[in-house]
Amino acid sequence: MDDLRFVLHDMLQVEDLCALDRYKDYDKANFDILLDSTKDYADKVIYPSFKEMDEQPARYEDGKIIVHPVVGEMMKSAGENGSIGAFFDYEDGGMQLPHVVYSALSHITQSANNSLPGYPGLTTGAAHLIVSFGSQELKDKYVPNMLTGKWAGTMCLTEPQAGSSLSDITTSATPNEDGSYQVKGQKIFISGGDHEYSDNFVHLVLTRIDGAPAGTKGISLMVVPKFRIKEDGSLEPNDVITAGDFQKMGQRGYCTTHLVFGENDGCQGWLVGEANRGLKYMFQMMNGARIDVGLMGASTATAAYHASLQYAKERPQGRRIQNSGAKDVEQEQATIINHPDVRRMLLLQRAVTEGSIALLMQASMYHDMALYGPEEERTRYHNLLELLTPIAKTYPAEMGRTSINNGLQILGGYGFCTDFPLEQYYRDIRIMSLYEGTTGIQSLDLLGRKVVMKNGEAMRQLVAEFKESISAASNYDDLKPYAAQFKAASKELQATIMHLLNYAMQGQYERFIADANIFMEHMSTVVLAWQWLQLATTAKTALVTGNKTYSTEFYEGKIHTMRYFYKYELPKTAAFKTILMHEESLTIPEESKVAFA
Ligand SMILES: Cc1cc2nc3c(=O)[nH]c(=O)nc-3n(C[C@H](O)[C@H](O)[C@H](O)COP(=O)(O)OP(=O)(O)OC[C@H]3O[C@@H](n4cnc5c(N)ncnc54)[C@H](O)[C@@H]3O)c2cc1C
Repeated sequence: MDDLRFVLHDMLQVEDLCALDRYKDYDKANFDILLDSTKDYADKVIYPSFKEMDEQPARYEDGKIIVHPVVGEMMKSAGENGSIGAFFDYEDGGMQLPHVVYSALSHITQSANNSLPGYPGLTTGAAHLIVSFGSQELKDKYVPNMLTGKWAGTMCLTEPQAGSSLSDITTSATPNEDGSYQVKGQKIFISGGDHEYSDNFVHLVLTRIDGAPAGTKGISLMVVPKFRIKEDGSLEPNDVITAGDFQKMGQRGYCTTHLVFGENDGCQGWLVGEANRGLKYMFQMMNGARIDVGLMGASTATAAYHASLQYAKERPQGRRIQNSGAKDVEQEQATIINHPDVRRMLLLQRAVTEGSIALLMQASMYHDMALYGPEEERTRYHNLLELLTPIAKTYPAEMGRTSINNGLQILGGYGFCTDFPLEQYYRDIRIMSLYEGTTGIQSLDLLGRKVVMKNGEAMRQLVAEFKESISAASNYDDLKPYAAQFKAASKELQATIMHLLNYAMQGQYERFIADANIFMEHMSTVVLAWQWLQLATTAKTALVTGNKTYSTEFYEGKIHTMRYFYKYELPKTAAFKTILMHEESLTIPEESKVAFA
């Protein structure tokens, strides 16, 4: 909680948002009350079901999806405490809470049990889509029951033949005379798609209206409820059949359903916004969900860090070499936290998780500023958010897994056993690199779209942010070397981008994006180094001014972890650059001599 508060209050000063008209009803004390009450709820209700949901996974039995009863409890309390519509406008039934505070609250619940918060979370995303783009009639019909947690929402994009490539979706929508549509098709892997604890499911479905243009330009967004609402307000089945639940290696408490729409030609859907603009609308939900998945990765890895830290403090094993030799049994055993290699693994976890949380909170604050900040600043914040979103999704997912792997290693053989939670965290985090766009797709988005968008404007704005952080860190003599190291890394990144852009300018687009994944690693590492420079500068300022909320060790710990990142992680960018600048192309099919026979 202190690490989170440090990012929110000390590094980002989120309370400054309260000066904006949108957030004028809040202050720092309100935010702290929300953080504390969410922590209390997470301890008492959410965490106790973490292991149980894994051991009794969501499953399909006799045509029904069975989930843990805590799902019902969570939906009900999320409805009661207003968190489903937390960041919505007052007039739409929301609390106008800043996105950054909403993200902080999600971090707490996701750390406690990553299988659970997705149920209300997707309901938030679906309701927000209707609020943002739907007609007043759709809003009135669906949103109130979603915000109270009585009805759940989902996002239905994926089809058996259309995963990463949404241009290939085929779920059809045929116009009815009354303005609704007849929907027919299948959606797979739908999270939170059906269970007994919600009275209705409001599916936000990507469809193709008869005669629509091919590809992404012909995709429309529909509200397709599991139960239609009759004139008198009662519900009737809408021919949405749940065909199964995918059994998974992790996040087993979170149901992943296979839905069939219109098997008996009786499934009605209602268009959201205009026809053929569905993917554009859905991107609102997907961008939010990408930040949320990154957050879930960082949160799962944070929980794993604390579990491995506790173990390292308690487990006696071996002796320190400097205390008269490692094999001297006369000496008391050392707890493993005293072995340098174990400390290295703990530091790695801190560097990844705290750096990721800082980045995710920063991205969420950009979101607030892009929507409600001073008019002339909004585009800049929007650009920064767009550019950072693929990184904020991918780094915590990929490096979070490495972080948990190190946590598991700290437990030795016990790490592999179900008596301890590390193996579950390790399985749970695996999904974060897959859904909401795989790491491969996020990397294409980063290099192929975001870095080059608006002629590189977003990238230039990010570099301007880097410069500000370099100059702030350079105020302190002992941070100057790190500021200089970061400056050099930032320049190298820009040189790599220029090198890759040459391929694009010569029309070699496949070559340009062939190693997008390596570029993602390169740029993410630089971006995390930026976050660590900011964290360390904030800590140093508190130490120098004496304006401290936490212990001296707390701030020194931040600076030490930054030094870890700069010694062990940032130098990896040199290798990434070498790979990206390498003349040989080994992966493009025509240039590859490997037949993979
Ligand atoms: C547990 C779970 C929950 C999910 N929840 C939802 C949900 O709620 N709603 C929903 O709509 N979907 C959901 N999904 C679907 C998820 O978003 C997709 O699985 C994901 O987008 C990848 O699609 P795919 O599985 O078809 O893989 P594919 O698209 O077949 O990809 C396979 C591999 O090929 C790579 N690849 C594909 N295309 C390219 C390319 N052009 N260039 C380079 N590499 C490429 C990918 O990176 C990946 O490594 C969920 C999936 C799971 C497993």
